[in-house]
Amino acid sequence: MTRVYLSLGSNMGDRQDYLQKAVEALNDLPETEVKAVSSYYETAAWGLTEQADFLNLALLLETQLPAETLLRSCQQIEKDLDRVRHEHWGPRTVDIDILLYGQEIWETEHLKVPHPYMSQRAFVLVPLIEIADDLVDPKTGQAYKKYLSQLNTSDVRKLEVMD
Ligand code: ATP
Ligand code: CA
Ligand code: CA
Repeated sequence: MTRVYLSLGSNMGDRQDYLQKAVEALNDLPETEVKAVSSYYETAAWGLTEQADFLNLALLLETQLPAETLLRSCQQIEKDLDRVRHEHWGPRTVDIDILLYGQEIWETEHLKVPHPYMSQRAFVLVPLIEIADDLVDPKTGQAYKKYLSQLNTSDVRKLEVMD
């Protein structure tokens, strides 16, 4: 079993419902179990900032699926949940990014792990550290907590009330 951390985001439609459905679909993958899910965080859009706020979460799963199979499965779940690809970093119903796949390092066209932008994104690191506060970047040995301490977290707000 490999411990895999994912980042999920949504900024279209019923964001919480899309995220919940994505978590269920991930848990339903073969040889895969969701072990921990962070709170939901309301976050300002990053990159292309003129779009609706996102809801983000991080989760831990244990899986026997190889990294590339898991990536394809995540993309299929995005499709099943109405994701249409328009512009890069544009609005989407569900985005599922692989942050960490055990200690593996991937640098292919289709898969980069650790996720190349994770250490610069408070909306990724705040939920991630909520569920795993001792994680270390396998490429640099740097603690993700340390990366987060250098970022502005004012646009990342924990959603306190859930349906
Ligand atoms: P970003 O990756 O900066 O968060 P994005 O999530 O908006 O941007 P997408 O359009 O969802 O980008 O994905 C673009 C491509 O990223 C996908 O086709 C996928 O092959 C590739 N990719 C590379 N590494 C990863 C990863 N670790 N997790 C998910 N997708 C990845
Ligand atoms: Ca993303
Ligand atoms: Ca993505």
